[in-house]
Amino acid sequence: MGRFRVVIAGGGVAGLEALLALHELASERVEMTLLAPQQEFVSRPLSVAEPFDLTDPRSFPLGEIAREHDARFRGEALARVDPEGRKAVSTDGGELEYDALLVAIGVDAAEAVPGALTFRGSRDAPRFKALLGEIEQGRVSSIAFAMPRDAAWPLPLYELALLTSARARELGRALDLHLVSPESQPLNLFGARASASVKSLLEEAGVALHLGWAPVAFEAGALQLDDGAKLERDRVVAVQCDRVVAVPVPVGPELPGLPRVGPRKLVPTDRYGTVEGLDGVYAAGDITSFPIKQGGLAAQQADAAASAIAAAAGAPVTPQLFRPVLRGALITGHAPRFLRAQPDLGLGPVSSEAARSVLWWPPAKVAGRYLAPYLAAKAGYPTSKRKQLVDVEPPYGDEGRGLSAGHEDVVELALTSAEASARWRDFKGALRWLEVVEDLELYLPPDYEQKRINWQGLAGQND
Ligand SMILES: Cc1cc2nc3c(=O)[nH]c(=O)nc-3n(C[C@H](O)[C@H](O)[C@H](O)COP(=O)(O)OP(=O)(O)OC[C@H]3O[C@@H](n4cnc5c(N)ncnc54)[C@H](O)[C@@H]3O)c2cc1C
Repeated sequence: MGRFRVVIAGGGVAGLEALLALHELASERVEMTLLAPQQEFVSRPLSVAEPFDLTDPRSFPLGEIAREHDARFRGEALARVDPEGRKAVSTDGGELEYDALLVAIGVDAAEAVPGALTFRGSRDAPRFKALLGEIEQGRVSSIAFAMPRDAAWPLPLYELALLTSARARELGRALDLHLVSPESQPLNLFGARASASVKSLLEEAGVALHLGWAPVAFEAGALQLDDGAKLERDRVVAVQCDRVVAVPVPVGPELPGLPRVGPRKLVPTDRYGTVEGLDGVYAAGDITSFPIKQGGLAAQQADAAASAIAAAAGAPVTPQLFRPVLRGALITGHAPRFLRAQPDLGLGPVSSEAARSVLWWPPAKVAGRYLAPYLAAKAGYPTSKRKQLVDVEPPYGDEGRGLSAGHEDVVELALTSAEASARWRDFKGALRWLEVVEDLELYLPPDYEQKRINWQGLAGQND
């Protein structure tokens, strides 16, 4: 009997998490192929820090990740699925026969607020940086951050607003900041505690909140708003501002052979990731019709699908249902905030936590069970031998309220100590200080990723 053939389409969060999970659960039984058009995995969540020059982008070669997990990598895109013939057809015309196909190709990020700067990740960082330049020159004095209805993921908008406020204060520029959202409370999908924490951060940062309103369009210095159930159609509600920054809405990419539902053309699945009506085809991540689009959830969907595929391959594994737990690490311009919640989706108990201290380990922005420890170790963060992400309880009394006074001084002290240790050729000590910085900030400042690699090499020579 040959091995169970698994094709994973997509080299993003869900695709890689599935690859790692399947390697862990059924490596003896499966033969995996990873299909993705790009050569590298680039972590998008830290892209909000790029316009502020707070850190260098991190990327990881897909071929190497596949090799380390006994999978083949093909640098091609999935063009269509032939469910009857059980074949995945690539854009190069290649046909890959599968026993299980996992589609994790993400979504297209569509603009939803005409006239706004839509921030979709690294590709929009230069435009946002230009906006920061205009603030510095005093040419922009008011900005509205706008959350469209059906936004893909709200966190980056809050991060950009808080980071912009911190930067304006550093520059000594007075800036009128607004955040417009159809949510009833800020980041309300994280529940009451997290909302209260984020609200206090926004108040301290001087960001005016306009909740219950969705942005429609930005024209002639006015961001027009809609409350979704407007009775007085003639009444125009608007926020006057110089610029508007928005986040995108998700749209499912064209993929013949797969069912798609709703106005956003997303793929319907059950809670094991099985695509409705198709045998042996699974989907995970943003492309599915699950309403919240987030990396941590994409990874949890991938874990559920991987467990079902491993069981189908004959591994001694009980398929695990997708039970969403939201873990969000909010970059604030000062100390990050860790948020954790079981959202209210009618699937079980609802919970909400916010803390200044780490709520899961390693403290990654994308909290994938296998992916977070793996990428952290690859980037040089010491993860010991632990292969899976673990939840951590916050210390008593840490409610995550208020900006942290003295945070920057502590980070500075840790960096100075790292440099001092390196000067004394105590490279292990220097690496431990960098771990402290990453726990405090979620990322390392520019140049320190490279320093960490150099110090690791030197620490190895000293052993
Ligand atoms: C600015 C920003 C900040 C964010 N911050 C956070 C955060 O803090 N925490 C968090 O958890 N989430 C965050 N997210 C959301 C998170 O990035 C996404 O939810 C997550 O990446 C979705 O994973 P995915 O695997 O479904 O899709 P993606 O990660 O987008 O991966 C899809 C992959 O499929 C590939 N692909 C595309 N078409 C094809 C094809 N035809 N065939 C094969 N491969 C294909 C793509 O190249 C890509 O590699 C953020 C998103 C943005 C934009």
